Amino acid sequence: MTKLFPTSTAGSLPKPSWLAQPEQLWSPWRLEGEALIAGKNDALRVTLQEQEKSGIDIVSDGEQTRQHFVTTFIENLSGVDFENKKTVRIRNRYDASVPGIVGPVSRQKPVFIDDAKFLRAQTDRPIKWALPGPMTMVDTLYDDYYKDRKTLAFEFAKALNEEAKELEAAGVNIIQFDEPAFNVFLDEVNEWGIEALEKACEGLKCETAVHICYGYGIKANTDWKKTLGEEWRHYEKTFPAIQKSSIDIISLECHNGRVPFEVLALLKGKKVMVGAIDVATPEIETAEDVAATIREALKYVDADKLYPCTNCGMAPLSRDVARGKLAALAAGADIVREEVSA
Ligand SMILES: [Zn+2]
Repeated sequence: MTKLFPTSTAGSLPKPSWLAQPEQLWSPWRLEGEALIAGKNDALRVTLQEQEKSGIDIVSDGEQTRQHFVTTFIENLSGVDFENKKTVRIRNRYDASVPGIVGPVSRQKPVFIDDAKFLRAQTDRPIKWALPGPMTMVDTLYDDYYKDRKTLAFEFAKALNEEAKELEAAGVNIIQFDEPAFNVFLDEVNEWGIEALEKACEGLKCETAVHICYGYGIKANTDWKKTLGEEWRHYEKTFPAIQKSSIDIISLECHNGRVPFEVLALLKGKKVMVGAIDVATPEIETAEDVAATIREALKYVDADKLYPCTNCGMAPLSRDVARGKLAALAAGADIVREEVSA
């Protein structure tokens, strides 16, 4: 983009209460059948309007049409058993009832393509579309078939690549893979995680991004963060290899966390979506808070490669809070843009 510091969000945004139970993950739909389809489209219109009015430059669907950032994609693959869910520990942190792999995995039909076309028709701004990353998908189910994390990740990468190519054709400008698991399984990231991600991006001409964070602002995550010590240096272990990868943009958590800003220097040459909004608190940042985070990141990231963003998705927050945070993000970016342009 030619505009300095274009703003965007990491992923999900709150759903309207008429569509799904608010402030809850895996929230059940409140509509069904045709009404649900129409409701999802209306929610897409609303979330787009809220982003545009708030001054967000790179817009998204806010994940209005999916119940969860990982499971909704998995639901559309063959080889997955959704009837017999099992409880597994996700990212070594919390238990969830998840589907299982019981046969060969493949993508039977487009998952988000109609939604992406719909969004494309509503806006002239660049669109970013989030898909789950292969490693995070592996970590959000049980596997009774391949029984090998790397093998399964590469099967998922194939399915993701098919979806990503169709999203690109639908007019999506940036395809983002969400890999919170990259902050947990550090050795595996270097052994096969990045390679699987590159497989998912193979042949794409649009920009690609990977989002690596410390998770939604839910209790299991905030409790986990308390055990991580004074400085969070997970990124330090994976960024050197990510810097050498073919991925264009890295989206990461910064504001209010304990990530030392100097780790950003490890991404030299990459575009960086700097998390300047904390999604784990309902307290709304001031524009000056956001500006301070951007200024700090600017010590390590070139101005033309710095994209202010949120730390993670905002689905569990109230709509008022999320709107306030979007406006603060845009206003903070405005402040630093003026400073740098002066
Ligand atoms: Zn995240």
